[in-house]
Amino acid sequence: MAADLLSKDRRIRFPSGSYQAFYKGINYKIDPENDIVEMTQKLNIRYSPESREEAVNLANKLGIEKIQKRASLFSKLLLLSILLFLFLMFFPSYISAKSESFFLSAGKFLAIVSEIVFLYMFGYYKAAVNYCTDSYCEKCGKHFVFEEFQAPLVKEESKIDTYTKTLTQYWHCRNCGHEDIKIEPQPLDHHHEKKQGNLIEDTCEECGKEHAIEEYRNIDVLNYVLRKKIRYFKCRNCGYHEIRLHKRF
Ligand SMILES: [Zn+2]
Ligand SMILES: [Zn+2]
Repeated sequence: MAADLLSKDRRIRFPSGSYQAFYKGINYKIDPENDIVEMTQKLNIRYSPESREEAVNLANKLGIEKIQKRASLFSKLLLLSILLFLFLMFFPSYISAKSESFFLSAGKFLAIVSEIVFLYMFGYYKAAVNYCTDSYCEKCGKHFVFEEFQAPLVKEESKIDTYTKTLTQYWHCRNCGHEDIKIEPQPLDHHHEKKQGNLIEDTCEECGKEHAIEEYRNIDVLNYVLRKKIRYFKCRNCGYHEIRLHKRF
């Protein structure tokens, strides 16, 4: 079991005296004194400079209202073409019996092509609408000025009795300076599993002392999408710490 864990687990090492480690885009921070472990990850800013520019150009050309109308028009056309396709699939007998198969296949083909075209057009205008809405500043009433000034941050915090996950988004207005920092708790399915008392492999890799590694906190188990176990170890001799991530599939 222990050997199995060692080979499969991702191991994040904190040599004696170090309390931070960066691993696969996530910053791990341990605070042994208060028994808190923090994991933070920066996400991408929602709108790339290219998508912003495209939306602004489109809005200058058409006006925001027209973009909204087109998005709603293409969503309706998309729905219609899906309905048409379903109709041709399930009620082919409504089409006249003669030369049925040719018209039917042609109809289905056309329905699929228009679905793809309408979906693309809807996505294109919808993205512009979203940017127009998100970049509007409620304080000064201007469009294209509200923007993310820092990458969004996902933070997981493990304490003795709680485990929380939050998403922080940083927005401000380029025009009037209005700032909006939103911290939203993220849904999480978490429970604790009891730490293991006797480890099979308990020699410290840092100082080489035998029977020095102990599992010092209970195991954090996360379900649903994450499906991972987080285990916490330390060396009683030299102060080396280690976090082991076990992904379950
Ligand atoms: Zn403003
Ligand atoms: Zn050690």
